[in-house]
Amino acid sequence: MSDGTERRAGSGEADRPERGPGTTAVWAGDGTCAHEGATVPPVFHGVTFAHDDLDEWRAVAEGRRRGHIYSRNTNPTVEAFEEKARALEDAPAATSFSTGMAAVSNTLSSLLSPGDRVVSVRDSYGGTNRIFEEFLPAWDVEVELCDTTDHAALEAAIGEGCDVLYLESPTNPTLKVVDLARLSAAAREVGATVVVDNTFATPLNQRPLELGADLVLHSATKFLGGHSDALGGVLCGPEEPVRDAFHVREINGAALDAGSASRLLRGMKTLQLRVERQNGTALRLARWLEGRPEVAEVFYPGLPSHRGHEIARRQMSGYGGVLSFELEGGMEAVRGFLAELRLAHRAASLGSVSTLVGPPATTSHVELSAEERAEAGIPEGLIRYSVGIEDPEDLVADLEQGLEAV
Ligand SMILES: *Cc1c(COP(=O)(O)O)cnc(C)c1O
Repeated sequence: MSDGTERRAGSGEADRPERGPGTTAVWAGDGTCAHEGATVPPVFHGVTFAHDDLDEWRAVAEGRRRGHIYSRNTNPTVEAFEEKARALEDAPAATSFSTGMAAVSNTLSSLLSPGDRVVSVRDSYGGTNRIFEEFLPAWDVEVELCDTTDHAALEAAIGEGCDVLYLESPTNPTLKVVDLARLSAAAREVGATVVVDNTFATPLNQRPLELGADLVLHSATKFLGGHSDALGGVLCGPEEPVRDAFHVREINGAALDAGSASRLLRGMKTLQLRVERQNGTALRLARWLEGRPEVAEVFYPGLPSHRGHEIARRQMSGYGGVLSFELEGGMEAVRGFLAELRLAHRAASLGSVSTLVGPPATTSHVELSAEERAEAGIPEGLIRYSVGIEDPEDLVADLEQGLEAV
């Protein structure tokens, strides 16, 4: 677990919080496991760490002294990743997980006891939704899922008593926007802990802690890593709840692997470059798609036509790299269109350097029946498009030839 102390102790950065996020993405954390003058954090593949002095070993084991014992608990490369993520969210502490879902499940485990009540939105990530619908009720935790954009209903549900308010914004796949400041204020009144999944936005575009959330988590597999070559998750927030989640994780065993941490660290160095590019390309494509006759509707928070645009304008500094659009002609048109694309992997996931595309019917919402998808406001002709860092005009041309073919 990184509590930010290494920033002062090891990296030679001292306390200079005024740096920009691009500089933070490059420099933060790398010095926490500096070795032999290496300018890149070494990959500590070792599972176990030796201590010849028994008193020192004990001090490390009891947490009185910095050091490592066993990589399920802590690992130097993993700690460097935690420190970079912590600095990007400007949080007091951070801890990591093997995947984004491990971040979600271990965080919820650390916060909830039988008899507690969770309020959340219907459009949370598919795996998170399974935890709400399948796992938590079996543990005697009550879950109330509200219409994602009905803020009055969410406030009413929070007002009825709530231990954890769990939010996501923008959401999958129609990029609905949730007012994080407004709902965090409602949660504060009833003493609930507010957890925000900031995966879609990234710390560059949205700062949930500044908007009133208590904890912010990421699937680092997506934009943070940015290359679709490492799974990981991270939780950032105040020291005490982060330590509690770390404790659940070290016992449950969902530790991030040092090799993955190393790839995530490398990816994060270019976070600002990638996110700025993806913000710009996504907005450009969304505007372009809006003008096409083959497209029934475009969902992107940066478009004034989007239902959540006003809130997004207030709480986001960029609108992100994911958009979705509905083709006239439903699933048949989707099938033809997807087959024509040359510059997009027809694959799950998002936030990569290469463009990823897919219909929710086979990716994020595959568990739902066609009727359930319709009920959730997901048209059968919908396509989720996660823009990569390719030249924007090439992506426009690729979409154009795809649309013309259907
Ligand atoms: C992908 C994703 C997750 C889960 O992350 P994994 O790394 O795949 O376990 C959680 N939340 C959101 C918003 C995601 O996009």
